[in-house]
Amino acid sequence: MIHKEYQVKKVHMGRLEHQSDLIKSLTAIAESENIEAGRVSVIGAVSCGEISYYDQQTKEYQTKIFEESLEIVNCSGNISLKNGQPIIHAHISFSNRQGEVFGGHLEEGTIIFAGEYIIEEFSGQPLQRDHDHQTGLPLWQEK
Ligand code: ZN
Repeated sequence: MIHKEYQVKKVHMGRLEHQSDLIKSLTAIAESENIEAGRVSVIGAVSCGEISYYDQQTKEYQTKIFEESLEIVNCSGNISLKNGQPIIHAHISFSNRQGEVFGGHLEEGTIIFAGEYIIEEFSGQPLQRDHDHQTGLPLWQEK
């Protein structure tokens, strides 16, 4: 188990640019604001979405693309470091016109129609991601 404790240093809140890529925009905020540890949440709507599902047997992500406008029911994630750079790991749930909800691991290719974010910046030693042999995933490691 990996366990660390943090204090909330600052809360960033704002609106994402229409037609911007969701995860790229969040990463750009983390980079420009120098956020190395924190929590992210977004609600809003997208004009298209891309998510993935990690196949635990093959240890590969299977991606799924939605070419339709969808609500962001919730998108939550965290900020840590990978190779010294802030990286956002986020999951997202979408709803369609019928109110059906589905989701997965947020990928590039999810394009914002309207997006409101809150990023909580933490102070303390940032967690660092590196390859984990058991899962094949870039998980937090003891550093
Ligand atoms: Zn994930």
